[in-house]
Amino acid sequence: MRWDEQRVENDLRLPGVGDGTVVRTFDAPEAMGINFHEVRARSALNHVPGGRYGFSYTVNAFRGCSHACSYCFARRTHTFLDFNAGRDFEREIVVKVNVPELLRAELARPSWKRELVALGTNTDPYQWVESRYRFMPEILAALEAAETPVSVLTKSPLLLRDVDLYEQMSKHLPVSVNLSVPTLDEDAWRATEPHTPSPAARLDAVAELRKRGIDSGVLIAPLMPGINDDPAQVQPIINRAREADATFLGGVALHLRDEVRDVFFAWLEAKRPDLLPRYEQLYAKGRAYMRPEQRKRTTRAVRGWGRNRGGGKLPNAKAPPAGGGVGGTTPEEALATAGGGGSPAPTGPAGQQPLF
Ligand code: SF4
Repeated sequence: MRWDEQRVENDLRLPGVGDGTVVRTFDAPEAMGINFHEVRARSALNHVPGGRYGFSYTVNAFRGCSHACSYCFARRTHTFLDFNAGRDFEREIVVKVNVPELLRAELARPSWKRELVALGTNTDPYQWVESRYRFMPEILAALEAAETPVSVLTKSPLLLRDVDLYEQMSKHLPVSVNLSVPTLDEDAWRATEPHTPSPAARLDAVAELRKRGIDSGVLIAPLMPGINDDPAQVQPIINRAREADATFLGGVALHLRDEVRDVFFAWLEAKRPDLLPRYEQLYAKGRAYMRPEQRKRTTRAVRGWGRNRGGGKLPNAKAPPAGGGVGGTTPEEALATAGGGGSPAPTGPAGQQPLF
């Protein structure tokens, strides 16, 4: 327990997490009225069947994400816990307090094959609450001790707190640490990701990681028509990624499914009513994806980037995004379908299969 003030509600139960029992629930005055539900999970390693995205295992210490991105695909997984995908996803954060110890035990099994483990596939591993729990150093230490490659995706430069660990690991293990930067446009950023750290600071983090010799790329996702997909908005990210010596750059068009669709359309109505008719057309009749020609248009500024290993536009560019990078089934959708995730999912140079 990291706060002195606490509220214990042992009668609360959350389906889908460990035995469903909440160890304790409390809010933190400095955390904007967010409730944290500490639970004991049954396992730390989550197996993702198929392996088509370049990773077969994920670890997620949190459910819900206080970064509160309007488009977040992980929102729907909160409904598995009997929370809603809107405000609850942002304000009712489940903390699996025993993840580091579980992970150490699971990685120590003789059956563990040291396959790539992806972090950041469901919710952001460096969201605000990680600054209090400090799970990541323990998770990284466990992975390193088990000689297990790792790939991380986050929107927070808090990861630089652990840069020495990443540097040390990357000397003898495939390690890929990637930053999601959908936009540098101040208005678009504030409107779509109200509680994320500055996008410019995320790109600075990429530069620092690269200076330390750590594989680090930039994911521009989701690209949303009329919000952040104008090439004039995207180009500065590309320029900064290149200056930072990023090893990967990719982009993915927005897709909307189930509860995420409802949340996003409610957000449009509140923040960008001018775009409502356009989105109703783009995602008509419950479509999760835009039509291919529109997807192509939306991702035009990033098409081709990251595909240029050995002579490309990014000097250290790695292999193309798994799943084609734009359109098609994306890892987050597959993970959400599997009940294990929802937000941008990293794989990476660790497996020669960068983000998506
Ligand atoms: S997209 Fe990522 S950072 Fe944003 S709310 Fe979802 S998990 Fe958090």
